[in-house]
Amino acid sequence: MATIITSDCINCGACEPECPNTAIYAGGVEWELNGVTSPPLAQDIFYIVPSKCTECVGFYDHEACAAVCPVDCCVTDPNNIETEAVLLERARTLHPDQTFGDDAPSRFRKEGAAPAAAAGDGAAPAEAATPAPKPAAAAVPAPAAKPAAPPKSAPAPAPAAKAPAAAAILNLPKDVGALPGPIGEKHFAGELDEDFDTVLSWVDLKPMPSAPIAVQIAMRLGEPVLGAMPDHIKAELEEAVGNPLAFSRVRSTALNLILNLILYPVVVTALAVLIRGDRVFSLATRGWITLGVTLAALEAVWRLREGILHAKPASELVYRAAIWGIPLAPLGALLVRGSHFSRIKRTVGFDGYVTDLYDEKIERDRRYGTVYTVEEHSNAYLVRLEMPRRIPASSLKRLWSLPDEMPDYDYTISLGDAVLTISASVRGDALRRLSYISSSFPADFTTRIDFDEPVSGFRHRLRNKVIEIIVLKSRNEEISRAA
Ligand code: SF4
Ligand code: SF4
Repeated sequence: MATIITSDCINCGACEPECPNTAIYAGGVEWELNGVTSPPLAQDIFYIVPSKCTECVGFYDHEACAAVCPVDCCVTDPNNIETEAVLLERARTLHPDQTFGDDAPSRFRKEGAAPAAAAGDGAAPAEAATPAPKPAAAAVPAPAAKPAAPPKSAPAPAPAAKAPAAAAILNLPKDVGALPGPIGEKHFAGELDEDFDTVLSWVDLKPMPSAPIAVQIAMRLGEPVLGAMPDHIKAELEEAVGNPLAFSRVRSTALNLILNLILYPVVVTALAVLIRGDRVFSLATRGWITLGVTLAALEAVWRLREGILHAKPASELVYRAAIWGIPLAPLGALLVRGSHFSRIKRTVGFDGYVTDLYDEKIERDRRYGTVYTVEEHSNAYLVRLEMPRRIPASSLKRLWSLPDEMPDYDYTISLGDAVLTISASVRGDALRRLSYISSSFPADFTTRIDFDEPVSGFRHRLRNKVIEIIVLKSRNEEISRAA
């Protein structure tokens, strides 16, 4: 595969009929090869089937899909570069009824220098100007006119020619003027009149008390068993107990791995004794013990595979559940929910893989309002919600020469029934239009945060693209004010 469609695709459908190999399909549509259909490779945007794409080698001296795409999202896959010879061979396989000579049209020859060896002699440049063979391509309507003119011109004009094309197809203004500046101070209905620092001085910032000592001892003793639970439950439990000496997600997992080295052989041997009637202390049980130990070891490798197989540091590992720990998850959730010691902390679950083509996952999540933390204190909750910081990359951003920094969103905050609601939206036409054509860039988001205790009154401030909100607990508000 050499050409891919990035998430910038706006589903205009212009590329699909241009492909000489019918390698392009709309999202959610099954693809077909030699009469066999296969599930779609993308659901929401157009996609290219790698095994059918030849980068147009054999037909054109350019990628036909990229030539018509108004938002420049048909790009070469940097992770899967293929040679001209491979692509030409693929064209021959896909079209057995056609003849593709070694001098068939190819973008490699157009670009000149790179794989000159494949062409065999110096005839290539002349042929690039006149795409002679074009057997089936003659049936394809327009594109023949496009590449005819610019084969040997300077390299720069290509991008310059594309930007106006995008503007014309989408009917976009060429200049969107200045982006909105910083948003001023805001005050919402129900918000306290005192300034932020005054309200912050009311908050008892001492850490929340840890669980009682008896609970801590019980948790410590139960670690080998609790360590079998799924990672997120262990993380929440660690947060809830509030004392890593009493419960730690890492230590409990390690103890559970050791426990399983004993438990699995015992269980396997017991089953053999019960089902097969083997004697407990006999040679026959030795094999069952070995099997149990092997199962425990294999499961340990599976659970900690990022660390064991990919040498990731402990801080980046996922401490997965043991097979018998999955049914324990509801019990762990109950323990967390029943605890009065929990300090809630929420943020994105994980950072997805990152390449130059894709935004950092955390920045994408900021655009959905899901990157926030909630700290519980004895008389208040402190909420910090991160707003988007960067304007996502797209052809429109380039066309309009927009800066990287995202202007402040407009936002509203309301509090009611132990639920804090934060709604935010981009400001200005340019950003709204950009959000229409960019994936993972909604123009608005609403985040709702519910609290375990009744709350009344809040105060907020916006600093460095982070909305900080103090939410006072009901039972303490009067005391706080009096203090
Ligand atoms: S590069 Fe050519 S062959 Fe590949 S998907 Fe685009 S139009 Fe089809
Ligand atoms: S935006 Fe580009 S890739 Fe998406 S459908 Fe249109 S032409 Fe094809």
